[in-house]
Amino acid sequence: MLRLPIVATHKRALETCVYCPKLCRAACPVSNAEASETVTPWGKMSLTYFAGRGDVPVEAEHTAPAWACTGCHACREKCDHRNEPATVLVESRADFFARGAAPKGAVDVVTRAQERAHETAAALDAIEAEAPPRGPVAAGVLVGCSYARKHPSVAKDALMAAAKLVGGPVRAIRSCCGLPSLHAGDREGFRVAAERLAAEVSEVPRLVVVDPGCARATRVEHARVGVTLPREPELLLDLAHAAQDRLRVLPELEGTTVRWHSPCQLGRGLGRYDEPRALLAKMSGKEPATFQRDREHGECSGAGGLLPVTRPRTSEAIADARIAEHKARGGGLLVTACASSLRRFRSRGEEAEDLVSLLARALAP
Ligand code: SF4
Ligand code: SF4
Repeated sequence: MLRLPIVATHKRALETCVYCPKLCRAACPVSNAEASETVTPWGKMSLTYFAGRGDVPVEAEHTAPAWACTGCHACREKCDHRNEPATVLVESRADFFARGAAPKGAVDVVTRAQERAHETAAALDAIEAEAPPRGPVAAGVLVGCSYARKHPSVAKDALMAAAKLVGGPVRAIRSCCGLPSLHAGDREGFRVAAERLAAEVSEVPRLVVVDPGCARATRVEHARVGVTLPREPELLLDLAHAAQDRLRVLPELEGTTVRWHSPCQLGRGLGRYDEPRALLAKMSGKEPATFQRDREHGECSGAGGLLPVTRPRTSEAIADARIAEHKARGGGLLVTACASSLRRFRSRGEEAEDLVSLLARALAP
């Protein structure tokens, strides 16, 4: 009988999920949006288990739910076992992808990897052509492909903020952390990307990481494919938090409600809940407003885990629900700190702002 590697590597998590009375059900943004048992954490883990054991055929009907996950980790916070369906489902994608059972959206992401790399390099070339680093480079900055390609002005702000924080010229890192490949199911592509990044990082004295998805990839996911970066990845957010006395109150935020949307990879992924709030308080002169569910139980923007390409309507519905809650609670300026969430909110009509752009304006030179 066919048994996929996922069944052995995550046996305990899969078995506890299969026999669970769905205790984390209400936490999952995907099953809430689709109102479907199949895409509850329990449903996704069960189908992965059954396909992995050979109980059901490894074909789209049974494998597509593995891509119905934003990787938000909200279910882990409701789980007595602290199971991580996000990790298990991402790893199962690689097993399914290798057997030709990945959804078209995921296959397209892998096919377009080279094209994305060229777009990222071109976008960063254009930004640095305006203000090339002068003098010895103090740090390399991993801005993130999504910021570079989709929000070049925010990428520029990130480079400016990083230069102020490290006290010297910075250089944008061109390589990708590989996260799109990992989420698509291309494990080898992810490993190759991680090694390419490691080689580029060896050329700079420090590494500053902007996007929390890239940060979690470098701090957690690379180790799963045996890659260690030659420099410890430092979060731009942490550097800003350590330098918060250098932040001024931004006049444009005074008298405005500022609502913080905590990106899943920053909060549940990296445990940074208080730091961004402290920075927003410094820059706006007041504590930021929040959503009803907050911190460990904060809700996803719908932008993670490739959901916008594998289940676009679901992703939009999740983002729309966050925006509707933002408006119902009084609106104001919605601030996040993740390129995917920023893009998702803006694409659904909400003029969200990125924390990095505020930092670039508020930091003294
Ligand atoms: S993650 Fe935990 S709570 Fe959720 S289905 Fe699995 S065992 Fe149950
Ligand atoms: S990580 Fe998030 S999207 Fe994925 S199964 Fe858990 S709650 Fe659902």
